Parts: sequence; C-alpha cells; structure tokens
Amino acid sequence: MDMNDMERKEERSLNFLERIIEDDLANGRVPDNLIVTRFPPEPNGYLHIGHIKSICLNFGLAEKYGGRCHLRLDDTNPEKEEIEYIEAIQRDITWLGFDWGDHLYHASDYYDQLHRIAVNLIEEGMAYVDSLTAEQVKEYRGTLTTPGRNSPDRDRPIEENLRLFEEMRQGKHPEGSYVLRAKLDMASPNINMRDPALYRIKFASHPRTGDKWCIYPMYDFTHPISDAIEGITHSICTLEFEDHRPAYDWATSIDGIGHTPHQYEFARLNINYMLMSKRRLLNLVKLGIVSGWDDPRMPTITGIRRRGYSPESLKDFVARVGVAKVESVVDYNLLEFCAREDLNKRAKRVMVVLDPLKLVITNYPEGETEWFDAENNPEDPDAGTRKIPFSRELYIEREDFMEVPPKGYHRLYPGNEVRLKHAYYVTCTGVIKDAQGNVKEIHCTYDPQSRGGTTEDKRKVKGTSHWVSAAHAIEGEIRLYDKLFSAEYPGARTGNYLDDLNADSLVVVSTAKLEPSLKDARPGEYLQFIRNGYFMADSRDHAEGKPVFNRTVTLKDSWSKKAAKLE
Ligand code: ATP
Ligand code: MG
Repeated sequence: MDMNDMERKEERSLNFLERIIEDDLANGRVPDNLIVTRFPPEPNGYLHIGHIKSICLNFGLAEKYGGRCHLRLDDTNPEKEEIEYIEAIQRDITWLGFDWGDHLYHASDYYDQLHRIAVNLIEEGMAYVDSLTAEQVKEYRGTLTTPGRNSPDRDRPIEENLRLFEEMRQGKHPEGSYVLRAKLDMASPNINMRDPALYRIKFASHPRTGDKWCIYPMYDFTHPISDAIEGITHSICTLEFEDHRPAYDWATSIDGIGHTPHQYEFARLNINYMLMSKRRLLNLVKLGIVSGWDDPRMPTITGIRRRGYSPESLKDFVARVGVAKVESVVDYNLLEFCAREDLNKRAKRVMVVLDPLKLVITNYPEGETEWFDAENNPEDPDAGTRKIPFSRELYIEREDFMEVPPKGYHRLYPGNEVRLKHAYYVTCTGVIKDAQGNVKEIHCTYDPQSRGGTTEDKRKVKGTSHWVSAAHAIEGEIRLYDKLFSAEYPGARTGNYLDDLNADSLVVVSTAKLEPSLKDARPGEYLQFIRNGYFMADSRDHAEGKPVFNRTVTLKDSWSKKAAKLE
C-alpha cells in the first residue's frame, strides 16, 4: 500500500456494516470476538460483477476484523446446478485474490441435519405436510393487503405428518403432491411468514448427493440454518432479502440450533448498459449471442478477466461505489475509469498499427535495420526496455496521415515533420496513389540527428506517431470490444433486452501489423497498444504464430474528442 492508498483508506468513513460490526465487537455481542461471514452463491451460473461487490464485502470485512469468510455453495436447486459452475466460482474468487482457506461448504453438506430439524419441527407440532396444489397454496396465501387462510391440512395429526414426510423422502409421492410447511401465521403482514414451505419433492439428481434425496429444503429454511451451523456472525445479503428477515430470525431461533447469526441487507450493484442476472446471462449464452460465459463482452468475472481487466481495478471499482442501503445505478464509465487508472500503471507499452499505411523513408539505407531501446512503461521505471527494429519501410496508422489536413491537425501531411515514437523525426515529401486515387504509400525523409526522438536544436514537432517496421511486423487478429448493449437500461424501451444489443460490440481487425516483440505476449500480461487502447492476448484463441488480442478498454483520445467537439 503506498501513501496515497493509506490516506484514502483513513479518510474513508466506516460504512454501515463496519459500524455495526465495530459496535457488536465493542459490546461483546460476537462469540470469541471472531467475525465470521460467508459468500453464498447459488451454482446456477457464472459470477458477475455484481457478485464482486458481495465477495469484497464478505471477504473484506472478515479480513479487516481478523475473522474469516466461508465460501458456501448454495446448492439446493439440483436441476439448475452444475459442477462446471461450482468450479468456475472457485476459480473466479481465487483470481480476485480471496481465500476461504479450509472453509469451503455446501448447503448440501447439511441435508441430514436439515432433515432432522424438519422431523423435530413436525414432532413438536410446528410443521405439517400440505397437499394443496401450487395454485391453491397461492390462493390460500392471501395478498399484501389481505390475510391468508389456513390450509385444510394444517391440523393434520403429528403421526400422519411424520408418516407422509417419511414417504415423501422415500419417493412414494410424485412431485407437487405434497410440501412440508412451517406452522407460523397465515395472517402475518409479512407473506414470507405465512407458513413458508420447508421441503418440496424433486426427483432430480444432485451434483453432490446424487440420488440420495428426492426432497430438497427451501432457501428460507436452508440458508439461516446453514449460517447457524457454520457459526456465521454477520450474514450479509442484498436488499431483496429484507422481507425474508423475519423468516430468517424464525429459523435461527428453532430450539436446538444454538447459534444466532444476524442478517443485514445492502443495495445490490447495478451498472447501466449491463445486465446482471445469471438467468439472463445464461440466455445470452444459450441463444449464441455471445460465444460463452467467458465472452469478453460478458459482465461475468471470467469474461472481464479474459477481456483484460485486473482484479485490482475491479476491487477499486467496488470500493469507489461503496456500500449503501439504497438501490442505485452506477455509471459504466466508472468501471472503465478504474480500468484505465490501473492499467496505466501496469500495462507494457507496445506498438501496433491497426489500419496500416506504408511509409517509405527515401533517404534511409536500403536493407539496414537499427534496433532501438523502447521504454516499456513510462509510469514504471522498473518495467525496463525492449528492442524494436527500425528500417526504411514502416507502417503507420492510416489516420495519422492526411493529404489535406484540417486546422489543428498535427500529424503527418505533405511538408510536415513529426516524431516517430522512440526513433526519428520524419518529414513527408510525397504521396503515392493507386489508380482509384487512394493513398497507397507516403514518402518521407528522416533527420539522422533526431535519433531517439530529439534534436540538438530542440526543434519542436507537435505530432508523434507509432509505427512498425514492415519487414519485421507480425500479423494478428485484434478484437475491438464495446458495450454489449447500446441502451442505458437494456429492455426498458420494448420490454425485451435483446432489442438493445449493440451491433458493433465486436469489431474484428485482421489488417493489424504488430511489433515483433508481441510474439512472446501471453494471456495475463497487461498491454497498452500505444494510442489504441489497453489490450490482452486472448486466453482461448491466442497461439504461437496466430496472435489474437482483445481490447480491454480504449484510451482517451484527445483528437477524436476534439474532432467530436468541432462537429
Ligand atoms: P442473480 O440474480 O444474478 O442470479 P443471485 O442473487 O441469484 O444473482 P446468488 O448466487 O444467490 O445470485 O448470489 C450470491 C450472493 O451475491 C448473494 O448474497 C447475493 O445477494 C449477492 N449478489 C448477487 N447479485 C448481486 C449484485 N448485483 N450486487 C451485489 N451483490 C449481489
Ligand atoms: Mg439466486
């Protein structure tokens, strides 16, 4: 941590969860003064940026207060859950830099205990087997403004409840024929307290317990009891669970549970132009709109990682967003801002020409190659230098030349002198065109005195261009990514988010000329293609002899901004 970070940390006031925890610690409300949190994803999809907020909160609070954070896979819905997701979740959290140590749990670890607790509840007359159909349950439940009605099965004798529940477990009854419900209060103003279901029948194979069970416990029963079994002190979740808190408190107060965690709710992270729901993201994958969960346009951790974001920039992003109790939408630009801030410090600068235009230096000896030392990162002297070849024929970016420049254009045009990054000053002396009149190549002379990018007379040039030596360049595929959705709130206009897909979210450039050092690039290495943005080798498709790079985020380009203003 450098000084700035430390100051920022100290200046930041405590968020509401930190205040609660410090108060609990100060007043002896935490057993052994050990804060225990958990991150409880349901393995029904890949984690997304929203989850990063919850991960940073849960693991971060445990870290800050010397406690621990459990990773618990909330695997009570066997039909939608897959081992692939379970593995991806662990990979993603580890990549973010968090460690659950020995504390990896599954809700399914507690199936036996949950079953025993359910049987006890029946024995004490606090739970009953209900034969109402799903529609009837709904009808009996009442509404927000009207109380519910008791099910005719509510007074079923204990012995019969025990027998039926056992038969449910043995698979003697079809799905939907019975549920086990807690006997709470059908007139409660909180609908979640109107005899919530505890168990349902589901003939589904579970990724971990196989075919052992054909009854599965419900979320409102499983989650609080799992928290209690693990000794969780602060159970942090998103606001939509606020209405479930009374059910949570009921479950953790069942006789014999023995530990009372508390639930606290915070506002989930929303970002404009993005969808953050596993169900919808799965739909994009299934429809083939993206190439998979790790498509670099996906807001999944695996997707943005492949796109080239660092864990640090994502943690910085959620720290800047902060923790609140009121829903809000964070601007996508903040995410890109954090990426640029971070990548500026760590990315290795290299030269890649995306849209090449040949530049011939007519007074430079034919067949000669000079090797320049190029600084890898002006922000980081320890990043060192690399060798780049220079020769008579180069490529520059087509947009870096104009035959008839508008006012304020400082790059190359006939008669103008510019600096070639790391190399020499060149002056444009001529333009060669093809039969259609398109500029095919430009001719320049160079000033041998300007080697390394300055001259003795300290003559000023306003433009600097990146370039690649034609004879040494390698070719590769460059994938320019943009937002997946073009509308700020996808689906708001028509009700269908597919109507707001951005047709230009991926532009593949196959003309690029890359400096030869890039043949050693590998996924995980942060790169800046000078003037073109931040990039990373693609973790799936990049291969020796067939480079593929993804654009993480653009740089702020002062020229295009200025051009936009002039329009
Ligand atoms: P989704 O709606 O995307 O499927 P979820 O809430 O169903 O998300 P879970 O796997 O149940 O996903 O989430 C694990 C944890 O992450 C929960 O505690 C949940 O509250 C939290 N979480 C999910 N989405 C967000 C979000 N956008 N911002 C902050 N926390 C989130
Ligand atoms: Mg969920």
